[in-house]
Amino acid sequence: MKVINGIPASGGISIAKIFKIFPKNLELVKVNNCDVDLESERLKDAVLNAKVEILEIVEDVIAKAGEAKAMIFRAHILMLEDPEFIGEVYSLIESENINAEFALDVVSKNLIRIFEGLDSQVFKERAIDVKDVSDRVMKYLTNSIDEGYQFTDDVIIVTNDLTPSESIRMDKKYVRGFILNVGGKTSHAAILARALEIPSVVGTKVAFDEVEDGDLVILDGDEGIVIVNPNEEQIEKYRKLKENKKEDFSEFFNKEAITLDKKKIKIYANIASNEEMNNVLKNGAEGIGLFRTEFIFMGRNTFPSEDEQFSIYKSVLEAMNESTVIIRTLDIGGDKQLPYLKEIPEENPFLGLRAIRLCLNEVGLFKTQLRALLRASAFGNLKIMFPMITVVEEMTEAKKVLEEVKSELIKEGFNLGEIGVGIMIETPSSVMLADKLIKHVDFFSIGTNDLVQYTMAADRMNENVSYLYQPSNPAILMMIKKVIDITHNHNKWTGICGEIASDLEMTPLLIGLGVDELSVISSSVPKLKKRIGNLDSKECQKLSQQALNLSSSNEVIDLLKRF
Ligand code: PEP
Ligand code: MG
Repeated sequence: MKVINGIPASGGISIAKIFKIFPKNLELVKVNNCDVDLESERLKDAVLNAKVEILEIVEDVIAKAGEAKAMIFRAHILMLEDPEFIGEVYSLIESENINAEFALDVVSKNLIRIFEGLDSQVFKERAIDVKDVSDRVMKYLTNSIDEGYQFTDDVIIVTNDLTPSESIRMDKKYVRGFILNVGGKTSHAAILARALEIPSVVGTKVAFDEVEDGDLVILDGDEGIVIVNPNEEQIEKYRKLKENKKEDFSEFFNKEAITLDKKKIKIYANIASNEEMNNVLKNGAEGIGLFRTEFIFMGRNTFPSEDEQFSIYKSVLEAMNESTVIIRTLDIGGDKQLPYLKEIPEENPFLGLRAIRLCLNEVGLFKTQLRALLRASAFGNLKIMFPMITVVEEMTEAKKVLEEVKSELIKEGFNLGEIGVGIMIETPSSVMLADKLIKHVDFFSIGTNDLVQYTMAADRMNENVSYLYQPSNPAILMMIKKVIDITHNHNKWTGICGEIASDLEMTPLLIGLGVDELSVISSSVPKLKKRIGNLDSKECQKLSQQALNLSSSNEVIDLLKRF
C-alpha cells in the first residue's frame, strides 16, 4: 500500500483499476527538397480536417459541460488561424523546402518551449493547448487517426498531463477518475474534470512512475489523495464515505432558502452563457446573480454585434421570467484576453486595464454592450453590474455613459424596461469607499475571488502563493461585514458571487455576517438551500462575531469545524 498526495482538482471518491496512458512518441523524419506547393496543400487539408473535428467537439462539450467550457476548444480553432503558429509552419515549409509534418513539429515544439518558460500559469496552460492543436493536425498529416481509448471496465486514468481533447474524448461510461503528474486547480484538465464530474487529483509529480497498469487505487478528489493497492479496511471505509456523499438534492429544487428562524436568503446562479439556462431553471435558482458576459466575447475573431448580444441577454431575461437577472458588463483583462482587441502590453495585467477600466477606455465597445442590455431590459427584470470599481469617478462615469445610451435609445424609439444598477465590490478601495459608492447604486455584489487576491496581494492563479489566498482570513471577513452593514444602513442589499458563496463550510459565517443573496454555479443551488434550512441566523450571528475577533484564517477554519 502506498499513498500519493496531489492537488484536489475535482471532488468525489472513486475506487478502480489504473489505466496508464504513455506519452506518444511519433518518429518524425525530416524530408528535404520537397514540393513546397504539395506540402502546403497537405498542411491546408490537415488544418481543415482538424477544424471540422474541433467544431464537432465544441458541440459535444456544450452538450456535456456547457458553453463556458467549450471556449477552450473555440480557442483551438483560433490557434489554427494564428499567423504565429500555423502561419509559421507554412513559412518554414517554404523557406526550407521541407515536409509539412517536420515543419509543424519544429514550430509547435518551439512555441511549447516558449510558453513553458514563462512565469504565468496562464501561459503554461497555453503550452498544452499548442500541443493539443498540433497533435490533431499531425494526426491528419500522418494518417494516424486514432479512435480514442476503448475500455470494457471501470478505470482510473493516470498520465503525465491530459490535453483538453484527450479528457473530453475519454469514454465517460468507464472513466472513474484522472490522476495527473502535472497541473493545478485552474488547469484546463481540472476545469473539464469538474464540469464532467470526474473525481481527479492533479500535480502529484510522481503518480505516473509510482503506479502500474492494473493497480487498484482509491482516488479521493476532495482531499487530493491516491491510495495505491489499499487493504480491505480502507476499501470499506471509502465505500461508505462514497455512499454517504451520494445525496439526492432534488427535493430542494423548488424550495426557498429559509433559516430555522425564518430568515430568507436569495439563492441565485452564476452563468457564462445563455445555454446554461436549462440547468439554472432545473436546479431552482431564484435569479441570476452574475452573468459573466465576457465569455460571449471570447473564443471568436470579432466583437459580437449589438444585435447578437441583445438576443443573448433577451433570452436569459425571458427564461427567468420576472426574476432578477444581474448582468455584469465586460470583465476583460487579467487572465481573460480577447485576441482581436488591440493589445496594450502589460507587465501586470491583473493590475492593468481590466474590466470597467478597459470599458471606459474603449467607450464604443462599452456603449454597444449597454445598448444591447438596455434594449433587452424590456423583456424582464434586469440589473446591470459594473466590475472592478476602484474609485467613485469610475462609477459616476459609467453611469453617465449609461444615461447617454438610454437617451439615445429613447430618441430612436426603443421601449426600455426599469433597470437596477449595482457594482462588484472586489477591490479593497471599493470596500473602504462603500459608504460613498452606495449612494450611486441599488446593490453591491462582493466578488470574493478578486477581493481576496487584491487584499492578500496573492495572485489567484499562482500555486506558489496559494497559502496566502485565504477567503476566511478575518481581514476578508471584516471587509464583508463592513460592506453589508453599509448597504443595510441605506436600505439596500449585498450579495456574494465569488466562489466562497458555494463553500458550505462558510455558509453559517456568511449568513451571520448578514448577506442577503448568494450566487453560485447552478448545481450548488439545491445544496446551499438545504444547508441554509438547517441554520439558525441568530446562532450564525454569534459565530460571525467570534470569527471577526480571531486573528488568522486557521483559527476561523477551526471555529467553523466546531460549529
Ligand atoms: C470575483 O472576482 O469574485 C468574481 C465573481 O468575478 P470573476 O471570478 O469573474 O473575476
Ligand atoms: Mg472578479
